[in-house]
Amino acid sequence: MPCKRFCLQCVRPFGKQLHLSVRFYRCSPPVGLLQKVKFGDLNADGKLDILVPPNDSYQDIQYVELPVWAPHNCPYCDGSEPITDSYSIHCRYCGIDLKLYYEQNPYNASCRECGLQLQTCYNDPNYPGQSLCCPPTHGSVILAEIEMGYVDNGNQWSCYINTGKGFTATTQNIVNVEYDDKITVMDMNRDGLSDLIQIRGTQAKLYLNSKGTIQSSTPVSPPSTFLPEHPVLCLRMW
Ligand SMILES: [Zn+2]
Ligand SMILES: [Zn+2]
Repeated sequence: MPCKRFCLQCVRPFGKQLHLSVRFYRCSPPVGLLQKVKFGDLNADGKLDILVPPNDSYQDIQYVELPVWAPHNCPYCDGSEPITDSYSIHCRYCGIDLKLYYEQNPYNASCRECGLQLQTCYNDPNYPGQSLCCPPTHGSVILAEIEMGYVDNGNQWSCYINTGKGFTATTQNIVNVEYDDKITVMDMNRDGLSDLIQIRGTQAKLYLNSKGTIQSSTPVSPPSTFLPEHPVLCLRMW
């Protein structure tokens, strides 16, 4: 999993500025797991139970060197990002030699960066295998951001039910979790059972608890019943 680094800037009173550089490691070991653990009463017995979310799911974005002819979609099978490094020439889905295709169909070969039609060049000593290039600017290989796809780490939460003398471990399939999600566990409909609220970007979703099991979909009571009128309350919940 890629590491992300964020810079936070805090403005302090008296005109002083404090700059904080914070690193969030999304790699193993799971730093921050404790903050992700939630507490609630899943079975309305008055005892606090523990919910541990699945690992984050995420869109895998990588920065790689690519030949300038590398298309976003394979001309044969339409697979997304068929070429994923500067050495591969075959579509990673259908296996067809795409370099050969563009050499034989130069009118279809355009620069991935600027869209200009590519030309044949044999003289790039750094990338001798690449015979197509964008002569004015981009040469034969560029640095590109590609989406490798969604890494789905599932929706299975671990639940530790408090018996008063210990915990009974179970699992519940509720919802995937992403890095920036805000998740709160609390009783939203006042039936004594803790429900789960997930906020992703500007969207809030409510997962109601029915007989001790948090439902992976919410058939009734859309979250708008609870959330939008109380933005301040929501912000203070975590
Ligand atoms: Zn293909
Ligand atoms: Zn170009």
